[in-house]
Amino acid sequence: MIRGSTELVAIVGSPIAQVKSPQNFNTWFTNNQCNLAMLPIDLQASALDAFIGTLHGWHNLRGCVVTVPYKQAVASRLDGLSQRAAALGSVNVIRRERDGRLLGDNVDGAGFLGAARKHGFEPAGKRALVIGCGGVGSAIAYALGAAGIASVALSDPCTARMGAVCELLGQAFPEVAIATRVDALEGFDLLVNASPVGMGGNAALPLSAALLATLQPGTLVADVVTSPEITPLLKRAREVGCKVQTGPEMAFAQLGHLGAFMGVTPLEI
Ligand code: NAD
Repeated sequence: MIRGSTELVAIVGSPIAQVKSPQNFNTWFTNNQCNLAMLPIDLQASALDAFIGTLHGWHNLRGCVVTVPYKQAVASRLDGLSQRAAALGSVNVIRRERDGRLLGDNVDGAGFLGAARKHGFEPAGKRALVIGCGGVGSAIAYALGAAGIASVALSDPCTARMGAVCELLGQAFPEVAIATRVDALEGFDLLVNASPVGMGGNAALPLSAALLATLQPGTLVADVVTSPEITPLLKRAREVGCKVQTGPEMAFAQLGHLGAFMGVTPLEI
């Protein structure tokens, strides 16, 4: 029940009907007797500046989750950013301070790592392959660098995006070895698909058949795609005997990070 006294959080993007955060947060708020609620907001791009202005003045709003396509556009409009959000030039959560200032963070990578740690993956000293160098891939690569990964190989048909992630990692974590060419999958402790390949029932795989033939059972194989839960890549990895991590596991692991940044849940929920 939303009352006059209920404090709010929101999630903004476009489209918005597919997002799971409102039911996840509202269920948690209800189960924990919190007088809080999350609203989904489908925002037209031309209204973004007016929306940010409204957030400044919205007294009973604690924060706002940000999703596609506004993660980058919102980052440049806030009063302050975490170090990782500033490095990535992208936010997926805003906290509204009591004085109206808006601060941003990006917890995509933290969510991914939280889910990976539940599978026993500890990045320090390990070797990872990140497929897809867009918003989510760069956040995952940055989180792996911050957690002490030894080497990161990148794969993306868009060489400009791959180059941008190389530069980001090189500047922030000069000790991490970076490769942009992958000849075989042996030796990788982690392989993550951070591209949309395999989404929505599409049978495509993000790596060639020749490369996938070299996948070994000791590699943790993760996918960020949330639907289907078991993508063609994860299905193949299971057949090889690999542990797999799904997109919904990453999304769920982010909830505590999003809620804690907005000040409405503990980190572990
Ligand atoms: P984006 O458009 O910013 O980046 C996608 C990248 O994938 C691009 O750089 C593109 O060139 C690359 N790509 C496309 N085909 C490829 C291929 N065959 N091999 C390698 N790279 C390829 O998108 P994004 O915001 O990073 O989102 C990526 C995916 O992550 C989406 O499917 C989105 O739904 C999902 N996502 C999941 C979570 C979660 O919590 N599980 C959170 C956010 C986004």
